[in-house]
Amino acid sequence: MGLKVGIARDERFLEHKTGHFHPEHPNRLTSIYRMIDQEFSGRVIDFKPEPASLEHIERVHTPGHIRQMLKTAELRLTSLAPDTPVSATSYLAAWLAVGACLKGVDCLIGRECDAFFALVRPPGHHALPDRAGGFCLFNNIAIAALYAIEKYKLERILVIDWDIHHGNGIHDFFYEDRRVLYLSTHDLMLYPYSGEIDQTGKGTGEGYTINIPLDRSFSDDDAIYLYQEILTPLIRNYKPQLIMIAAGFDAHADDPIGRSRLTEKTYAGITALLVRLRNTYGPFPLLFSLEGGYDQRSLTQSVKAVLAELINEHETESNASTPSQDAIALVKSVQATHARYGVLK
Ligand SMILES: [Zn+2]
Repeated sequence: MGLKVGIARDERFLEHKTGHFHPEHPNRLTSIYRMIDQEFSGRVIDFKPEPASLEHIERVHTPGHIRQMLKTAELRLTSLAPDTPVSATSYLAAWLAVGACLKGVDCLIGRECDAFFALVRPPGHHALPDRAGGFCLFNNIAIAALYAIEKYKLERILVIDWDIHHGNGIHDFFYEDRRVLYLSTHDLMLYPYSGEIDQTGKGTGEGYTINIPLDRSFSDDDAIYLYQEILTPLIRNYKPQLIMIAAGFDAHADDPIGRSRLTEKTYAGITALLVRLRNTYGPFPLLFSLEGGYDQRSLTQSVKAVLAELINEHETESNASTPSQDAIALVKSVQATHARYGVLK
């Protein structure tokens, strides 16, 4: 039996205009929404998100940043950071993107569904408390994680960030907080150039941040092997009450920004692994939120692969048959870095 899957989608996300030549373009979502209608009609529960309330956004972002966001409503096209243009209705899309993730938390904790995919833009994982950046306006996942902690008294949330860029916003926000374990695989040579392997958290959060810089040559087998070796002990030991996935698909070989060579097989493989671990270690809910992914076709195919694994529960064999020596060495290095914390034993 597959999982009961909810999605959040809304035409208002398309009103966040970034200009003709910007990679984070409304067509990314148009293409995904069309695929959902063609492939998953009647097989996912469609939720219409509401804008988040200000009090939840204020828990992560400063009044100055929120005010700056609101001021963009007066302008036709402006920029909040050199790479982050916004239009007059972008603030509404940003508010709604957070709201979609909060809706996901409510649906999952209320057991209306087992997995939830917030198909939103703008993305969020680079947004810092006091500023936008990297195409991100509000930090959708950080706000939703804090919301789940405060509203539902959750104590252990695992955030998996498989976008090829390091999610510095989520990373920094929970760096000293063990209630959120942040795991990221990323390319250190890309924006925001952070996420070294020895950054493992601080204070009571020490050991609760896992940064895994990937090699650009990694294959699907390598990536699936790595996730399998890391996530299996991690989920067994940390016992997450909720798993959130910062689901960017720009590590795909066809992506114009990422420099990696993965395919949708990686995303299907990791999703299948999560479903298997869910069956073994308890029915933790899964909240996916769309981050990057800038090639329309591969982005859409990748989202499709994730949803198909969740709904059909293919039990895709995610045991990677032939990981490279580099992938084996990287797993060993992550295990050695985290050996003293015990969470990967
Ligand atoms: Zn990205």
